[in-house]
Amino acid sequence: MTGESPPGLPQPRETPTNAPMLRAWREEGALALQRCPACAKVIYYPRVVCPHCWSDRLNWFRASGAGRVVSFTRVHRGLPAPFQAEAPIVLAEIALAEGASMIARIVTPDAGAVRSGMAVRLVPPGDAPRFPLPTFMPA
Ligand SMILES: [Zn+2]
Repeated sequence: MTGESPPGLPQPRETPTNAPMLRAWREEGALALQRCPACAKVIYYPRVVCPHCWSDRLNWFRASGAGRVVSFTRVHRGLPAPFQAEAPIVLAEIALAEGASMIARIVTPDAGAVRSGMAVRLVPPGDAPRFPLPTFMPA
């Protein structure tokens, strides 16, 4: 799966708030998350203020990339054209080891084997350029 993003794949819009996360993914295949030094909570998606205590002094760090599937869906139809050849696409809520949760894609040759509670990890850094956002695979 290593390689460039397929042509026409939707790309995220970079903003000053999400740029550290998008650049960590694009350049290192790493998952960058924010942590609030005031309340110690880990935050995803990227924000300007902590949603728990409203502190505006959030720090970025590199997450392990490990997590577990909370819930998921397999999308077979109605996908944007660039994704249709890859159907079914698995989209999951993933509880990250660091404590936050995120919605992300899980890539696997066996979409039918994805289960709630399953351990997942980020795809290898060499595969990251193929995916516009942090993407996981079975651990
Ligand atoms: Zn906080």
